[in-house]
Amino acid sequence: MRTLVLCDGEARTISDVTLRVVSAALQLAQPVDLLVFDDASAAAAAHVRGVERVLVASAGAADTLAPETVAAQLQSLSAEYAIVLAAHRSLGRAALPRAAALCEGAFIADVTGIRERTQFVRGLYAGSVVATVASAAARTFATVRPSSFPSAAAEGGAATLVPIVPLAPIVPFAKTRLVERHASAQSGLDLGSARVVVAGGRGLASQDNMTRLGRLAANLSAALGASRAAVDAGYAPNAAQVGQTGRSVAPDVYVAFGISGAIQHLAGMKDSKLIVAVNKDPDAPIFSVADVGLVGDLFDVIGALEAHVQSAEQHV
Ligand SMILES: Cc1cc2nc3c(=O)[nH]c(=O)nc-3n(C[C@H](O)[C@H](O)[C@H](O)COP(=O)(O)OP(=O)(O)OC[C@H]3O[C@@H](n4cnc5c(N)ncnc54)[C@H](O)[C@@H]3O)c2cc1C
Repeated sequence: MRTLVLCDGEARTISDVTLRVVSAALQLAQPVDLLVFDDASAAAAAHVRGVERVLVASAGAADTLAPETVAAQLQSLSAEYAIVLAAHRSLGRAALPRAAALCEGAFIADVTGIRERTQFVRGLYAGSVVATVASAAARTFATVRPSSFPSAAAEGGAATLVPIVPLAPIVPFAKTRLVERHASAQSGLDLGSARVVVAGGRGLASQDNMTRLGRLAANLSAALGASRAAVDAGYAPNAAQVGQTGRSVAPDVYVAFGISGAIQHLAGMKDSKLIVAVNKDPDAPIFSVADVGLVGDLFDVIGALEAHVQSAEQHV
């Protein structure tokens, strides 16, 4: 049997998110195929190291397809695939449970690790319990948390030797229709793939201060994140929220300014490789996960970092 990875992200390319799901799939030690939705993505997919076959669906671009259509496509392929993986993002979260139901298979959400080739690790209760789940179903559909896996190499695959298989068209689901999409303006780097995230909480105290933190983040080549309290207060856009009901990130460095460290926030960032926390309260729970903790006023630290960046720029 084989593992199928559902491609997620922009058309005509293989996103970093998909590369991370491929690396999770490779841990299952079965041949890995990639399902894409356009010819340009297929050409890129053939170069991904470890991918043995590329399937090209013809129902439309992945990001405009109804999840029901994607689920039907997955069902049509289920005879060959014991495991189907997708990123734990909106497409995978909507399509894979539907496909599992259609195939009478199992669905496992938000996998953060794979053990002994067949067991899936996932967090429960906002990450305070780690569960290991084994599936006895003939077909298992699982969404994978991208930040928990490294990216597979986008180049170095067999390329010309990888078969690119056009799939027979399937009838698109027609009971719902995408009328319009409004992407919220994104400033700066993408949170999910940034190597450094600088995040602000309610301690920032205003939108202007968050904007100032955003400028510092940009100067440090970092993405800007925020706690839910900061988002709810209007300091930062929804897309910046990190945590149980926001984005899950695991960058090389996560710097938290004025974030208390509620369990729901920690659920989205505690896998970061190095956590730096700045908080004036020495008992703030964020310090329990921080590798480097600084008890003090965040505005002093931001000012010092700004001065450092400025003097570094003057010496270039
Ligand atoms: C179902 C559910 C889901 C949730 N999902 C999320 C989620 O996805 N993400 C999330 O973040 N939260 C989430 N929350 C909310 C969470 O419980 C907390 O309320 C929230 O994380 C608090 O944000 P905060 O740390 O910015 O604010 P606060 O808890 O108010 O902390 C502010 C911190 O700033 C410090 N501070 C203030 N001024 C300064 C200063 N000048 N210098 C230094 N430090 C300073 C304070 O000491 C304090 O520790 C969720 C809650 C629920 C119930």
